[in-house]
Amino acid sequence: MSGARKVEERVGEARTALVVMKFGGTSVEDAKAMLRTAAIVRGRRERGLKPVVVVSAMAKVTDQLLAAGAAAGRGDKVGALAIAARLRNRHLETAADLLADDLLAGTRTAICAEFDALDDLLRGIAAVGELTPRTSDNVVGFGERVSSQMVAAAFARHGLGGAHVDARSCIVTDDHFGKAAPLEAVIEAKLTQLVLPLVQAGQTPVLGGFIGATADGIATTLGRGGSDYTAALVGGGLRAGAIEIWTDVNGIMTTDPRICADALRVKTISFEEAAELAYFGAKVLHPATILPAVQKNIPVWVLNSRNAQNEGTKITAMAAPCASPFKSIAVKKKLTIIDIVASRMLMSHGYLKAVFDVFDRFECAIDMVSTSEVSVSLTVESHGRLAAICTELGKIADVKLEGGKALICMVGEDIRGRSGISGRVFSAIRHINVRMISQGASEINMSFMIEESDVDEAVRALHAEFFAEPDPTVFDVESRAVAVKA
Ligand code: ADP
Ligand code: ASP
Ligand code: MG
Repeated sequence: MSGARKVEERVGEARTALVVMKFGGTSVEDAKAMLRTAAIVRGRRERGLKPVVVVSAMAKVTDQLLAAGAAAGRGDKVGALAIAARLRNRHLETAADLLADDLLAGTRTAICAEFDALDDLLRGIAAVGELTPRTSDNVVGFGERVSSQMVAAAFARHGLGGAHVDARSCIVTDDHFGKAAPLEAVIEAKLTQLVLPLVQAGQTPVLGGFIGATADGIATTLGRGGSDYTAALVGGGLRAGAIEIWTDVNGIMTTDPRICADALRVKTISFEEAAELAYFGAKVLHPATILPAVQKNIPVWVLNSRNAQNEGTKITAMAAPCASPFKSIAVKKKLTIIDIVASRMLMSHGYLKAVFDVFDRFECAIDMVSTSEVSVSLTVESHGRLAAICTELGKIADVKLEGGKALICMVGEDIRGRSGISGRVFSAIRHINVRMISQGASEINMSFMIEESDVDEAVRALHAEFFAEPDPTVFDVESRAVAVKA
């Protein structure tokens, strides 16, 4: 073994040339996008880097798989199989556009085998008339199973040494279907055994994001948007020099460019700020992505696969000093406020615990809490379990639900210790009814609840107030939102 290799393999050493590149749904949405992806990977290899690639399902495929699973669960076999047939055709057509040579035959066979298995699964679900979380994970995982095989074949065709690795063999998780927790030590061992040798042999391993399996081989998923998380797990497990999240916008922007066309690229942002943004709704990054990267101190970049020359956003341990108090405004929609009025116990000792225990039992995360002497207001994502939660809470309190709410979260390290910021925030949106306010314990966010219908107006007003004169060291004043999703 050469001296250099010995150094590279020392436990704990960052493999600086190894870069994990994750391409989201729009970056693999059709043959053209997959070829752009191949060109970006080629560029990295030509610079002497060693890419490990993680891909999402082709754009919108996960939603369609969920719809197929739901149809089957209702006993609608015909509807479910029709969705699967459309997906099969889309993948076969894309493969035909992508692979005009002998690689096509093998890839077609692989795609058909996957879709045959999906059809069987949907028939089984329709026969039983019930979709369990476990079978749902099996169904939704097909998108990444197929896209990763197609991208690996495209990389092989284009001389990039594409080698497909079934993510279910590496990303080992618990059995919390729908949002499984990764077992990081096991994942690290599997990646070292199955992926690292391919990198060392000069190949480009390609894994599907989002999907994993339990130690017993039962398919799981990491939750919606989970391919970012896979990238961070792979980067952390292989001690990569960098993790790149390739998407359809120039980086982390000052707000969602779909809401505010003036959004600017944020050049650098801290791990803490990015985690806060992701948690409070900025879809550009999955909330769990940051942790494995922080633990190993691996820089994360967010980049635009449609504008690969752009510098993107660098997420680093420390925030750069910034003249503007906020870095970005996140929006989380489809929230419900639950007002709980203590009927008998009047906030007696143990009352709040009893309330929170109910949410805990239903595994329902709470975004915001405010309390008064006799009442507690909480905000949660609107979902099917709310009715059952209310029934339980009704045993100890009077409960009122109000749906259609949204959370606006303003994030920035530079609000710590500054005065007058909340005055500016609330005067910018003085015409909008604000329901709940919280300045997070982390001191780097300021959040409040409004009606969903007021979101666009509020975000634009806040953006105009805080990003009219952006600090050019932190914000790319030249750039404007480039790609807005179709
Ligand atoms: P991918 O499929 O590549 O994972 P996503 O759709 O999950 O992409 O995330 C990218 C989208 O996130 C963008 O198209 C944009 O509309 C949205 N977004 C929301 N908030 C932000 C933000 N602060 N910065 C950039 N994009 C954002
Ligand atoms: N395809 C999955 C989703 O749409 C995972 C991802 O794209 O990150 O949620
Ligand atoms: Mg995403």
